[in-house]
Amino acid sequence: EYVEKTYERIERVEGKVRAFITLRKKEEVLKEVKEAIDRKQGKLKGVLIAVKDNISTNGIRTTCASRMLEDYVPPFDATVIQKLKQEGAVILGKTNMDEFAMGSTTETSYFGPTHNPWDLERTPGGSSGGSGAALASGVVEIALGSDTGGSIRAPAAFNAVFGLKPSYGTVSRYGLVAYANSLEQIGPMAKNAEDLELLYSVISGEDWRDATTIPQSPPKTEADLSKTRFALLKNILDASQPEVQLVFKKAIDKLSSEGATIKEVELKYSDYALPTYYIIAMSEASSNLARFDGVRYGYSKYYEGTWKETFAKNRGDGFGIEVKRRILLGSFILSAGYYDQYYLRALKVRRLIKDEIDSILSKYDVILSPTMPVLPPKIGEVIDDPVRMYAMDLNTVLANLAGIPALSQPAGFYNNLPVGLQMMGKYLSDYYLISLSKSIE
Ligand code: GLN
Repeated sequence: EYVEKTYERIERVEGKVRAFITLRKKEEVLKEVKEAIDRKQGKLKGVLIAVKDNISTNGIRTTCASRMLEDYVPPFDATVIQKLKQEGAVILGKTNMDEFAMGSTTETSYFGPTHNPWDLERTPGGSSGGSGAALASGVVEIALGSDTGGSIRAPAAFNAVFGLKPSYGTVSRYGLVAYANSLEQIGPMAKNAEDLELLYSVISGEDWRDATTIPQSPPKTEADLSKTRFALLKNILDASQPEVQLVFKKAIDKLSSEGATIKEVELKYSDYALPTYYIIAMSEASSNLARFDGVRYGYSKYYEGTWKETFAKNRGDGFGIEVKRRILLGSFILSAGYYDQYYLRALKVRRLIKDEIDSILSKYDVILSPTMPVLPPKIGEVIDDPVRMYAMDLNTVLANLAGIPALSQPAGFYNNLPVGLQMMGKYLSDYYLISLSKSIE
């Protein structure tokens, strides 16, 4: 019945929303759900999950929303997928995203944009926009995203759902197609904080196949709203669209009325956050994406001339414009003569930003801001203006630069358009943030 209802729902909404790149056949899914239900144990027995299409799934096409990987079927499961299967979860399909997770609106996808279920003319945010839209359109209750600079939180905010960018090193990246290794984590998305917690508890943990995972798990601390000290990022809030400020302020007034202490703080280095993030992200991306040459991996239509010509033709055709822009800029930044000027400097500024955030978090429990400084843009509105698109990530990149956890949850609506509230916490305070989220959802 559950599977039947899910496919009926898909029938009704998916033509308009287009959250999925690949949907599995109903019979296959039904069979797996039945098997899962018959098993004795499992925290997610027979629960359907939508998985972002940059997470490797054995036997299910994993495209990264790129022509380069249009036909790629991985022969293995990512660690998070193995863990989900052990707990009885069943993959419903693979969700749309920005190509190789590069973008904030799900419009750079080779397969076309996903539409925001709250307003079909608008984007669902990105890059995990398909996962966000699959939740908001009522197809699934849980989904996986990945977050390099906000890709879980932007769609969580724009779809009025919950999303967590976990503390760096608490979730294995084995089987996640790498964009920028030092920044990103796979993380849970859901319609409430309880499910977020359940999903995070299943996917997190040390993994010998990802040397950046850590042995300790985040402590299960309970939060007490009335004892919580919130630092509100004043300059970040002031830089937000007035409509966003309005909704956000109402949400935090409610927090104060429930006893929370909220004080305004300035983030001195906030102007440097975006340039620092994009220099580091593009550098790592240019190196990661070198493997897609049409010989070892991916789109390989051409075999002509020298190797260099073959690579150039396959890569020229296989990658979209945003991905190419980043490979070019990243290669430039890392080249002799510019490395010190850009890359090394960005690493130093990253440290300054991290130190400043850590110092705020030594006096406060949580840092508050809107998740996104704008309302969901219309499809086509920002896509041709990369700098404007990058500017949307101002509030979210901070947590990735600092490696700390950040949770986005619904703050309210402006004319039926969702606004998100972001909470950043100390390293390994993931469960604390989730517990806080439960008390204010
Ligand atoms: N919008 C940011 C970028 O394009 C973040 C994307 C992400 O988190 N994957 O890099």
